[in-house]
Amino acid sequence: MQRLQAFKYELMPTSEQRRNMRRFAGSCRFVFNKALALQKQRYEQGEKKLGYVGLCKELTAWRNSTETAWLAEAPVHPLQQALKDLERAYTSFFAKRTEFPRFKKKGQADSFRYPDPKQIKLDQGNSRLFLPKLGWLRYRNSRDVLGAVKNITVSQSGGKWYVSIQTEREVAQPVPQGGAVAIDMGVARFATLSDGTFYAPLNSFKRQETALRKAQQAMSRKVKFSNNWKKAKARVQRIHSRIGDARRDYLHKTSTAISQKHAMVCIEDLQVRNMSKSAKGSAEQPGKQVRAKSGLNKSILDQGWFEFRRQLDYKLAWNGGWLVAVPPQNTSRTCPCCGHVSVSNRQAQARFKCMECGFEENADVVGAINVLRAGHARLACEVSGAGMPPAAGTHGSDSFRLDAGMSAVGISGL
Ligand SMILES: [Zn+2]
Repeated sequence: MQRLQAFKYELMPTSEQRRNMRRFAGSCRFVFNKALALQKQRYEQGEKKLGYVGLCKELTAWRNSTETAWLAEAPVHPLQQALKDLERAYTSFFAKRTEFPRFKKKGQADSFRYPDPKQIKLDQGNSRLFLPKLGWLRYRNSRDVLGAVKNITVSQSGGKWYVSIQTEREVAQPVPQGGAVAIDMGVARFATLSDGTFYAPLNSFKRQETALRKAQQAMSRKVKFSNNWKKAKARVQRIHSRIGDARRDYLHKTSTAISQKHAMVCIEDLQVRNMSKSAKGSAEQPGKQVRAKSGLNKSILDQGWFEFRRQLDYKLAWNGGWLVAVPPQNTSRTCPCCGHVSVSNRQAQARFKCMECGFEENADVVGAINVLRAGHARLACEVSGAGMPPAAGTHGSDSFRLDAGMSAVGISGL
């Protein structure tokens, strides 16, 4: 099977390369914004939206015009990729997945992408790679790149430059290891498994919140754009990237551990995006418990549940396993022992006690057990052809997922 994987390294650019990377990122941002402005203008004039090819023609004109001739100094492929990104942003918007594309600001996700592997040279032995108009760049070679290079993204974060190398390679069809497990995601515990193991909350942001607030206050006291202000600003950015690093590290370690030990992982299909968005409600329908909810939402975003789920999905696929999302339904109120459903089963936040049969257990473990049951039920529906659409997983076809699933839970031969 094909395996796509990205490898990310810190770059060690010369000051000239640093300058050029800043300029190229700026040119890509300029092209993105100019194209977005053009599309908006066309829309207001009742004209049709330009497609990617149409935008590329505009780009050629911009590169040839005397007004924006400096665009010609940037490599052309990354500029075209900026147009591709805009196209993708529009597609996501029309599919109601994201908000309407917004103009990019300087210093926000500065990056550019080289899509053509023929123009890229990777010399791992000497820890360097060649990119058009930048030349040979040295990088911190922390691990081998596996597979054929497909494309490369250069990005800046917290004052440092990084390269992300996307590769593709053929790997043997993995045999899934371990059995089925379910996860209950929570605020008090980041993740609780149905077998009782749990992972502590991440809360990296909370831990560093004080440091960040102090740094931000110090910055606000400085005269804007003065040297001391710049120093204070750099400090704020450093804390920001430290928070990001700690969070990424934790999520990767946790998702790797879970995906290596289990063939099937069930998870509640929480709409994190909706939850984080809708607490406030609309003017006609103000939300309930706005305060409590937005606190919870902040925790959810802080802990990166979305990212965690994405990582679980692809890591399970790498190991031959798969992720099953089940709709949330009374998972925290149903007794796994006798099936009694009642709000009063859960009187305390952390403890579950069945009012019917007296079964007691940690509430998160109970939630996970119920998610696991729902996952098995969902699988049974798929096997019997009840036509329930699979809720999760973007890897492979449905039939592949079904095959993997059957062997994973020991019902091959159906
Ligand atoms: Zn019970």
